[in-house]
Amino acid sequence: MVAPKTITIIGGGLAGLTLGIGLRQRGVPVTIHEAGSYPRHRVCGEFISGRGQATLTRLGLQDLFATAGAISAHTTAFFSATKSTAPRPLPAAAICLSRFTLDAALVEKFLSIGGEMQTGQRSPLENFDEGSVRATGRRAAVEPGGSRWFGLKIHARNVTLAADLEMHVSPQGYVGLCKINGGEVNVCGLFRKRAGDFGSAKNWRAFLGGLPNSPLQQRLAAAGFDESSLCAVAGLSLQPQQAAARSEISVGDAITMIPPVTGNGMSMAFESAELAIAPLAEWSRAEMTWSEARKKIAHDCDVTFAKRLAWAKWLQRLVLTPSLQNPLVTLTARSDWFRRMAFERTR
Ligand SMILES: Cc1cc2nc3c(=O)[nH]c(=O)nc-3n(C[C@H](O)[C@H](O)[C@H](O)COP(=O)(O)OP(=O)(O)OC[C@H]3O[C@@H](n4cnc5c(N)ncnc54)[C@H](O)[C@@H]3O)c2cc1C
Repeated sequence: MVAPKTITIIGGGLAGLTLGIGLRQRGVPVTIHEAGSYPRHRVCGEFISGRGQATLTRLGLQDLFATAGAISAHTTAFFSATKSTAPRPLPAAAICLSRFTLDAALVEKFLSIGGEMQTGQRSPLENFDEGSVRATGRRAAVEPGGSRWFGLKIHARNVTLAADLEMHVSPQGYVGLCKINGGEVNVCGLFRKRAGDFGSAKNWRAFLGGLPNSPLQQRLAAAGFDESSLCAVAGLSLQPQQAAARSEISVGDAITMIPPVTGNGMSMAFESAELAIAPLAEWSRAEMTWSEARKKIAHDCDVTFAKRLAWAKWLQRLVLTPSLQNPLVTLTARSDWFRRMAFERTR
């Protein structure tokens, strides 16, 4: 019998690690190259919802989440400068776990089933040879007109929330407050910054702390922030891209980034990794060519994510248009149908 060929994954975030685990479960030799190290904090709302949860079940990873201390989220509430909703049930429960803990737990799992990993070195991204998969996360971009999105995250204690997940919108962007493991609250936001605007990640309190007298500022008034968990990302592109347009096999944000306001990026990372497992295992056993595997994975990802990305783009525009924020929170408070529809269509 011919020995299976090795898959090299560039990027050890959620998509790369999930793919690595899935391939190892099928006996494929895998090496992951990760630029950073573990554990480390990531800019993320740390709220996992949607179909990716079924992927975790199929890959047998639920126990890993439970052991790592993940908690369930069942309720949500929305706030603008002057309007708010009462806590409402989420259409489906979500899982909340710090990325500091989650990414490290996935690495441990990957290594325990024979995966190989090299950390602390950035791989070149110019050429992806046959056998190499791109899982490098978001591709930095500046949008036309010079506006830039940037994200910030910090963990806090002494924060009492009205719901498991609170979403606060303001003319600056949005901030989500989400209960996570260890009694902490994830404070994570996405903000628009136009070229020349004042404001930077160093000034995080001005963004994550909320505008003067806002519900967000009141909510965080007594918070104790863990500044070692503070992290930032900039240059986010929120224009949906197609996997078929990529020249290499990509998974996760390396295909495209769904607007973070939907809380579905991690789910898409798990799902895209799962879609890639079977074709890559077939390539490893010389039952499929690399080109066939690339086409199949790209096609399946595009079919799976196209509607979600389109709805998310629309929702993101609504949420981040300042004049619509108060009416939107009022609609969310009054209409179960609207809340459920927005949740389900973006997952
Ligand atoms: C503000 C904000 C809030 C969010 N909130 C949520 C949320 O609540 N729920 C949700 O589901 N999603 C959320 N997301 C999205 C989610 O974080 C991402 O979709 C998810 O992390 C994508 O996983 P990934 O593996 O594709 O990329 P990443 O997790 O970014 O991993 C990519 C990895 O590749 C490595 N890498 C990059 N380049 C190289 C290189 N050249 N060589 C080697 N390694 C390399 C990086 O170091 C990194 O570890 C949020 C995103 C933002 C910006």
